[in-house]
Amino acid sequence: MSLLLRHRFIVTGQVQGVGFRPFVYRIAAANAVTGTVNNSSQGVIIEVQGTAEQVETFGFDLTDKLPPLARVVSLHAEPTDPVADESGFTILKSTGGAGHSVLISADVATCPDCMADIATPGNRRHRYPFTNCTNCGPRYTITRSIPYDRPMTSMACFPQCPQCQAEYDDPMDRRFHAQPNACPACGPQVWLTDPAGTTLARGDEAIRMLAEALAQGRLAAVKGLGGFHLVCDAASDKAVAELRRRKHRPDKPLAVMLADLEAVRQLAVVVPAEEPWLTGIRRPIVLAAKREPLAVSPLIAPDTNFLGVMLPYTPLHHILLDTFAQAGGSEIPALVMTSGNLSSEPIALGNREALARLGELADLFLLHDRDILIRTDDSVVRVNPASGGPVLLRRARGFAPEPVFLAEPGPTVLGTGPELKCTLTLTKGDQAFPSQHIGNMANLETLAFYREILDHMQDILRVRPELIVRDLHPDYMTSALAEELGQTLDIPVIKLQHHVAHIHAVLAENKFTDPVIGLALDGTGLGEDGTIWGGECLMVDPESLEHQRLAHFSHIRLPGGEAAVRQPWRIAQAALWELGVTAPGAYPWPWLAQFEQESAFLPQMLTRGVNSPRTSSCGRLFDAVAALCGLTSAISYEGQAAILLEKAQDMTETGAYPCPLKSADPVSLNTLELVAAALDDLGQGVPVGTVARRFHLGLINGLTEMAFAFSTLLDIHHVALSGGVMQNLTLAAELPRALERAGLIPLVHRHLPPNDGCISLGQAVWGQRYLRLHE
Ligand SMILES: [Zn+2]
Ligand SMILES: [Zn+2]
Repeated sequence: MSLLLRHRFIVTGQVQGVGFRPFVYRIAAANAVTGTVNNSSQGVIIEVQGTAEQVETFGFDLTDKLPPLARVVSLHAEPTDPVADESGFTILKSTGGAGHSVLISADVATCPDCMADIATPGNRRHRYPFTNCTNCGPRYTITRSIPYDRPMTSMACFPQCPQCQAEYDDPMDRRFHAQPNACPACGPQVWLTDPAGTTLARGDEAIRMLAEALAQGRLAAVKGLGGFHLVCDAASDKAVAELRRRKHRPDKPLAVMLADLEAVRQLAVVVPAEEPWLTGIRRPIVLAAKREPLAVSPLIAPDTNFLGVMLPYTPLHHILLDTFAQAGGSEIPALVMTSGNLSSEPIALGNREALARLGELADLFLLHDRDILIRTDDSVVRVNPASGGPVLLRRARGFAPEPVFLAEPGPTVLGTGPELKCTLTLTKGDQAFPSQHIGNMANLETLAFYREILDHMQDILRVRPELIVRDLHPDYMTSALAEELGQTLDIPVIKLQHHVAHIHAVLAENKFTDPVIGLALDGTGLGEDGTIWGGECLMVDPESLEHQRLAHFSHIRLPGGEAAVRQPWRIAQAALWELGVTAPGAYPWPWLAQFEQESAFLPQMLTRGVNSPRTSSCGRLFDAVAALCGLTSAISYEGQAAILLEKAQDMTETGAYPCPLKSADPVSLNTLELVAAALDDLGQGVPVGTVARRFHLGLINGLTEMAFAFSTLLDIHHVALSGGVMQNLTLAAELPRALERAGLIPLVHRHLPPNDGCISLGQAVWGQRYLRLHE
């Protein structure tokens, strides 16, 4: 008999809740080794015993034949003492404890096998809305703590029936140790109520009643995976208009859920690079080009040429769309699915909370009794037509809590994020964990959500920060929170300028450690000189942490402060005032019809500088040009003016406005010349589409020339691009190409949004480096 060897493997990464242990069991059986596998706080610990050859092939299989959702971060192997008389291979009970290095998986869209189960009459899970297996289903949203085992999830209160238990215990079954495993006999149930909470129907009858009500134009709140959706028939103008009215959301685009890719193609032109996003396991909302005339209500996304579409990602969605189609909704069954919240509040979570908060919004409530422990909105992705890569607009469900892998390990740092589109980030070793999108910190509900996420992430990552990095802005809620946490934890709090954080975020995502020229094309953030920054050319060195403001956009005043952000006509008039234009000439100002009185007061405000802070913001420049073009005078959601300007472009136009550099200290990019040229053109009756296009191209040229000038001066060839304006697909597609033509190497976001959703990552990674430098 040949000599027996025993090896111990410790595997970390995304290896729990993804069918990893059954996979280990299967390859152990295939290689005829004995031993054990155990989920522990250090990772998955595997011990295998067999001949040298058996143990070696087992090791190969372990890395080569991974299940689809598993992601190994580290694999450590060491010999250990053989165990006498061991027979068979055993899956041990999980052990918890500190020092955790296992990643909880993000939530995963229903797999084809489970879809077949729910679609097959006679299957015991036929039309069961909570069907899942080790390859799919809820993860992050139902996990209270680690290790990821049923008692730690919101499935703890659903003891499995004998049939489910048998699946759960059978290593050869697709549901072996599927923690959320359930069936109609033992698992969660749905029911339908009116806004008062009176039950109208249960189970399948509830879904049928809901589908019929939706087909009749009613509005419903539907409890989903990471929160509630407000739902209505996307084909019904009346229903969509009513949803907009109740949600106080007059114009902002709404997302639509369709049954399959074929249905999506009826409404949108789907390019190949968008398909894997639509059909993959993450299932974000994808902004795809609208197919005109739109086969659903035009009220869904009136401002843009794009439509937010997504495919069902839970069995409940699949069943609901299927039933809605049968209820004879419309030709292409499509449901509006928008976050169940009032504008700017976080998405609703619990049944009672939903009835209380959404009672005015919905006619019907589809509830269920599986608790959502961690609220997570739908993610939103655009595909960059030039690179085929994603531009994330919102990173949440399907992504969180996945880490960003960093160039170097370091101590744990908390980046507390900005005010709007807020996220927080905790680092651990060489990984950074950005939270899901948290939202607008200006309201109390969001603050509570933020604290929940912070506690939860510290718990599941088993970390405590040694340093907190916050924004410079003293009035941000996240700044106050950072100071409070710093005191509680007795750790230092350091401030980092908003746009410097933007650039550090892109660098971290690219694991890039050399100095770069950073273009932060953003809304607004407090600058180091006390003015409001937002169109910045920076030198950033991620090693030494030095940075320098090389240049900025022309200053424009914001007459009325916040009011100017909501009423872009004020910024347009302020930009004209900077150019010495104080009254309409050949071109009548489009805002005078609506705001003539207010407009008359502006010159006085501007001359005296009363409540008119100066800004170099790129976003506000877009606002000014959009308002000058008459596209909008007052906006109802953030970014609306820029979205309208992007849409307005006549893509056949090739002319570009001048946008030269102007020597000063620091240098400025004379973006006011773009406004002057637009005014000239408009005065001569040049169509708005031409003006919008010449503006975009002029800005791209100006930015490229500026980057090139500093590249030559500083001998730096990489240009990092970040900021909310990079959500604009024209810039996202054409600016990197223009930089490349100039011999520069662009770095763009890969895992996080270019908007303020990336700030906390930049802060945290900057802080890690700061601690290493000051060791
Ligand atoms: Zn499945
Ligand atoms: Zn069951």
